[in-house]
Amino acid sequence: MIKHTAGQQGKISWGWLSFSHPILDSLQLPWFDIVAPEPGPALAIIAGMHPNEVAAMEAALRLKNYFGQTLERGSVAILPILNMPGLYSHAEFVCPVDNKNMNFLAPGDPQGSFSEVLVDRVLNGWAKDATVVIDLHGGDLREVVAKFVMCQLTGEPEFDAVTRALAHQFDADAIVEFVADQTNNRGRATNELPWLGRHAVMAEGGANGILDEENTLFHVNGVANIARHLGLTRDAPAPRVRRNQVVSNFFKVEAPASGRLYLDVAAGETVSGGQRLGAVHDLFGAWLADIIAPSSGLILMIVNHNITSRGEWLISLAPVAQ
Ligand SMILES: [Zn+2]
Repeated sequence: MIKHTAGQQGKISWGWLSFSHPILDSLQLPWFDIVAPEPGPALAIIAGMHPNEVAAMEAALRLKNYFGQTLERGSVAILPILNMPGLYSHAEFVCPVDNKNMNFLAPGDPQGSFSEVLVDRVLNGWAKDATVVIDLHGGDLREVVAKFVMCQLTGEPEFDAVTRALAHQFDADAIVEFVADQTNNRGRATNELPWLGRHAVMAEGGANGILDEENTLFHVNGVANIARHLGLTRDAPAPRVRRNQVVSNFFKVEAPASGRLYLDVAAGETVSGGQRLGAVHDLFGAWLADIIAPSSGLILMIVNHNITSRGEWLISLAPVAQ
C-alpha cells in the first residue's frame, strides 16, 4: 500500500492510495485522513463500493470536513470511492474489471481476481487497525432503500453488545441485527469482519443515483454519532426521529416473470403475509403475475425500474411479527 499525499490542511490530509499487489497495478483511490493531536479510537469509513450510491459518497466527503473541525481524539480514515474502475461508467453493482460485486467478497482473497484482491487489501491492509469499519451504501440506479443499518451478531455477548451499540448510533428506519446462524446474508464486510474479531457496521440510505440531503445527512449523522459514542468528538448530536425497528434478517423477493413491473409498495413500508406487492405485465400490457409477500415484514429495498427480468431481486423483506 503506497499513500501519495496531495494536500494537507489542519487535521486533514488527502491524496491517492495505490497498492503493491500486481493485479491492482493501475488502481488509484482517493483517500482522506483526519488525525487528532490526542490518541484514541480509529474509524475506517468506506463509500462508493457501488459508485452510483452518491448520497453515501457525498456523506464520506462531508465527514472529512466535519471531522476536520470536530475531531478531538483518535483518527478517521476515509476511502470515499472504492469502485474507481466503475465510477465514470456508472457501473451498477459490480466492478467492471472482473464483473464482481465487491459487496459480497469480504474478507477478500489476496490470490483472487481484481475485486477480491482489492477487498482484501482494503479490509486487511488499509483498515486492519480500525476500531470499527463503517461501510456506507444506498440506492443504486434501479434501487430505493429504506434508511437502515446492518450488523452481524456472533453469539459472543460482550462482542455483540459493542457491535449492536455501534449500529444503533444511526437514526434508522430499521436496524438489521443478523442472527449468528444466518446463512443467506453473507459476504458483506459487516457480515464477515465480526467473525475475525472486528467490529463493522453498514448503512443503507439513498435512491436511484440521486444526491439528496436527507439521505446524505442520515449517513453523516450516523457516523458522527459513532464518533461521539467512541469519544472521538464532543459536539451535540442531531435529534433522532426514526423508529429504529430491530429485525434479525431479510430475504429476497424475486420477479416472477419478465416484463413491465408495477409495484404497489415503497421502501420503508410494512406489509402483511400474502399481500400483493405488485404485478408484472407482458410487453403488450396484459397481466402476467402478481408479486406476493411470503411473510409479514418491513420492506428494506425495492427495485423501481419499470422493466424487470424473471428471477431478478426486486424486494428485500425483513420478517416482523404481525
Ligand atoms: Zn451498495
